[in-house]
Amino acid sequence: MAKILIVEDEKAINDLIRFNLELVGHKCFQVFDGKAGLEEAFGAKYDLIILDVMLPEYSGFEIMEYIEETPVIFVTARSAPNDKIKGLRLGADDYITKPFDILELVERVKAVLRRTKADTAYFEFDGIRIEFDNRRVYKNGEEIQLKPREFDLLEVLVNNRNLALSREKLLRLVWEFDYEGDTRTVDVHIQRIRQKLGIAERIQTVYKTGYRFEI
Ligand code: CA
Repeated sequence: MAKILIVEDEKAINDLIRFNLELVGHKCFQVFDGKAGLEEAFGAKYDLIILDVMLPEYSGFEIMEYIEETPVIFVTARSAPNDKIKGLRLGADDYITKPFDILELVERVKAVLRRTKADTAYFEFDGIRIEFDNRRVYKNGEEIQLKPREFDLLEVLVNNRNLALSREKLLRLVWEFDYEGDTRTVDVHIQRIRQKLGIAERIQTVYKTGYRFEI
């Protein structure tokens, strides 16, 4: 998994980001002001930098000027369209506005890492190998046929492992934002994944909420 620098002066938010990224297997390093951010961001020590804009000493935009290779996701309280444009023009890979949904951030981190190839292309557990790039799943070396939505759902669960995901959240992440389907669709797909892969105990039902992939 990736090595991620978090530059954010609000400790609670910095900790929240770290907690959630570490839950899904990343290694995080935290700094809380612009000066430390500039020092850490310089060079190519990290796979990804999560960069707040409004920081003491140096702003995220100023720090961004010194970042050459490392992918950046701006996280900021500002929602002015100009800031978004400025951030992206400076070379940021993505931009998220506070207050944000932490799972949304985790997903964006995943997307940026996939694009920049810093993320692992496969995930293995219990004799099962999931290959994300070619969307294939193997159990003890034999390919298991999953339907596209089943694969998408499995991918979301694995990438958010150890987190409880509501059925609504899963619908939104797997069936896109405007899907108005029934949350039972999620249950049906979960059942199929459990059966096909024989991993009923890994995909836990979270009472009155949804599901959690435990590892
Ligand atoms: Ca700030």
